[in-house]
Amino acid sequence: MSEMSLQQMPKIDLHCHLDGSLTLQSVQRLLDREVDIQELQVKDDCRNLAEYLEKFDVPLQCLQTSKGLRTASREFLLDVAKENVRYVEVRFAPLLSVNEHLNCRQVVEAVLEGLEEAKKRCGVFYNVIVCAMRHHTDEESFEMMKVCREFLGDGVCAADLAGNEAAFPMENFRKLFGEAKKLDFPFTIHAGECGRVENVTEAVECGAARIGHGIALRGHQEAMRLCAERKIGIEMCPISNLQTKAVSDWKEYPIREFMDAGLCVTLNTDNRMVSNTSIAKEMEFVQQHYGITMEELIGFQRNAAEVSFVDDAMKHELLKLWPI
Ligand SMILES: [Zn+2]
Repeated sequence: MSEMSLQQMPKIDLHCHLDGSLTLQSVQRLLDREVDIQELQVKDDCRNLAEYLEKFDVPLQCLQTSKGLRTASREFLLDVAKENVRYVEVRFAPLLSVNEHLNCRQVVEAVLEGLEEAKKRCGVFYNVIVCAMRHHTDEESFEMMKVCREFLGDGVCAADLAGNEAAFPMENFRKLFGEAKKLDFPFTIHAGECGRVENVTEAVECGAARIGHGIALRGHQEAMRLCAERKIGIEMCPISNLQTKAVSDWKEYPIREFMDAGLCVTLNTDNRMVSNTSIAKEMEFVQQHYGITMEELIGFQRNAAEVSFVDDAMKHELLKLWPI
């Protein structure tokens, strides 16, 4: 199968951060200056997650006004359309854009406006996942969730927990996600990216429908069985995971192990700009390194449709993109 056909194949991206996926053009226009791509992208010698996260400083500067949020979101969706993404769940942390001129509601509205403008032009379906940040207090995150819950089914589909996993373990957030459950707010959680496997099992026990990354499940049969039994969607992002050193070497990457354990594996980008990636590139990467077949790649897409945060009618529509 040629690279061309990977490019043309219909796709879903369930784990994609808006701030890490802005286009160079958006950033240059919004900052009104020439931007070197190296300001936005990690190099091959990136050492860890902390170094990786430094690349979010510049794009976040673009997301501090309604205009910036709207423009960046619009151009993001038009950009993913180029590789035939048909449905994307794009995530971001509203509180990182809240300032004295902009409240949480206005932030979410601006992003939804930009996405809707683009959808009218390119036809890509979208939903937004709102991220609580690990370094914020429960009160701040819960306030954000309450505001965003009002947009559920209206452009917002779920909540998430992101940020420094090693410094803030999952047990600190049981209460917050207990509250999310009471709000009937579905959620995914970043877990097992650089932390312990307990972060994954606790996230599942808290009610997470999906896990971002989940690399720490590697070698833990019991934990993998729990995720398989509950049909937890595993949002794998291979290129990003290798850059952040979630695994030390490509040979250690557990995609085959997860598939063999019956986990519901999906293939995602994490950060299109920071990681210089796309779903097509992720597909090519796993084909080359792990011998993933075209049939298996299509299986990942069907898994993504199954665990997406949409209603059954929409899932049915999405599944038609890859007839068996
Ligand atoms: Zn992520």
